[in-house]
Amino acid sequence: MTSVDRRNLRELLDRERHTYREAHPGSYSAWLGSEHLFGRVPMTWMSKWAGGYPLTFTTARGNRITDVDGHTYIDFALGDTGAMAGHSPAATVRAVTERIGTQGGITTMLPSQDAEWVGAELTRRFGLPKWSFTLTATDANRWAVRLARLVTGRPKILVFSYCYHGSVDETFIVVDPEGKPASRPGNVGPAVDPTVTTRVAEWNDLAAVEAELASGDVAAILTEPALTNIGIVLPEPGFLDGLRELATRYGALLMIDETHTISAGPGGMTARDGLAPDIFVIGKSLGGGVPCGAYGITDEIAAAVTRLAETGGADIVDVGGVGGTLAGNALSLAAMRATLAEVLTGDAFAHMEALATRYAEAVGEAIASAGVPWSVSRLGARAEYRFTSPAPRSGGESAAAGDDELDEYMHLYTVNRGILMTPFHNMALMCPETSQADVDRHTEVFTAAVAELAR
Ligand code: PMP
Repeated sequence: MTSVDRRNLRELLDRERHTYREAHPGSYSAWLGSEHLFGRVPMTWMSKWAGGYPLTFTTARGNRITDVDGHTYIDFALGDTGAMAGHSPAATVRAVTERIGTQGGITTMLPSQDAEWVGAELTRRFGLPKWSFTLTATDANRWAVRLARLVTGRPKILVFSYCYHGSVDETFIVVDPEGKPASRPGNVGPAVDPTVTTRVAEWNDLAAVEAELASGDVAAILTEPALTNIGIVLPEPGFLDGLRELATRYGALLMIDETHTISAGPGGMTARDGLAPDIFVIGKSLGGGVPCGAYGITDEIAAAVTRLAETGGADIVDVGGVGGTLAGNALSLAAMRATLAEVLTGDAFAHMEALATRYAEAVGEAIASAGVPWSVSRLGARAEYRFTSPAPRSGGESAAAGDDELDEYMHLYTVNRGILMTPFHNMALMCPETSQADVDRHTEVFTAAVAELAR
C-alpha cells in the first residue's frame, strides 16, 4: 500500500513517458525495425524496460552505457549482476583476448590450464572443495538439484515463496493467499504442477520450513541466503542457522545460491556469515560478463555421486542429464580467472560496499523527508527500495507491495535523467568503477522524484 496521490502519479508518469519518447527516437526506430526478433527484442524479458521499448546501446565501459541517441548513463543495473565487475573490465578483456587470439581455442571439449586455478579460488572464497562449471546460474541450479535428488534418494526440493533461481522448473511455486502451495502466477508451460516436485515455505518462517521437511521427501532446501528477486528480503537473526540445523536434522541438503548475494563480499554471505552449504551455486558475475556459472559440492556429496555413478548407473559423463557441451569452455575459464584475480577483489568489494551504504542511507533520508511509506534494504554492494514500510519479512509480503505504476515512474524518472536501474524492481548495484559522484547524482534524482510524488 502506498499513500501517494494516484492522480498526481499518473500525471507525472505521462510527462516522463513523453520525455522518454522524445529523447530516444533512435532506440524507438531500432526497436520498431526489429521485425525478426520475437517481441522485437533479443530476449523477451528485455520488453520489461519502462518506456515501451528498451534503449539500444552502442558502447558500455565501467559503469557507463551509451545509447544510439548519444545519451550516456550511469549504470546501476550492471546486467542484473552479470556486469558486477563493470562493463568490459580491462583485466578480463586482456585475458579473453589472449585466449581467443594469441593462444586460440574458445571451446574444445578439453580442460584448459585455467580450470584448476578457478576451482581453487572458488574453494578459497566459498569453502566447497569440488567444483563443476556451467554457462549460467540456471544450469548450475538444474544440475545440482539432480545431484541432490540422486544422493539423497528423495524426490522433492524445498524453496521459498517468490524465490528466483533462473528458469528451473521446480522453483516456480508460491504460497498462495490461502497459505497453500501453488504454481507461481505466470508460470509458462510447466511440465508438471510444481507442487508435485516442490515444497514451499515463506522466508523467515522456520516453523513452516520444519513442517515441510518433516514429510521426509525433501532432497534439498534451495535458497538464496537473502531473497533478492522480490526486492531484497534479508534473513532475520538465526534464520540461516536454523535452516542449516533443520536441513541436517531432517536429512536434506542445504543448497545456497549466491548468484546475487555475492554482493555481500568476495566470498558472498557464505564466507561473511559462516554459512555451511552442502551445495553452492553461482553464476553471472564471475566471468566479468562472459557467460559462466559454477556449482560447488562437499567431499561427501562428490564421493556419493561417484559411487552412484560407478555402481548405480548414474551417468554423469554423457547423457544422464548433468552437463552441457559449452560448459567449462576455455573462454569462460580465462574470463573467470582474470575477473576473480584482478577485478572482483577484496579491495573492490570494500569500495563497492561503502558506496552502496552511502546510496542506501541517502535513499532512506529522501524517503523519510518526503514522508512516503517506503523502505530501503542493502546487502553489501547492492541496495533496493520497496514501496512499503517497514521492509518486508517474506517473499509474499514483498510481492504484495509491488506497484507497477510507481515502478514505471521511478524507472522513467531516473533514465530520463541519466541513470539506469534494473528493469526488474528497483535494484542498484555498485561496481569497481562506480564513484561517489555517481551515487550522489542518483541521490539528487531520487530525491527530486519522491519530492514530486509527495507534492
Ligand atoms: N539464481 C539467482 C539467485 C538469480 O537471481 C538468477 C537470475 N536473476 C539466476 C539464478 C539465474 O541466472 P541466469 O539467468 O543467468 O541463469
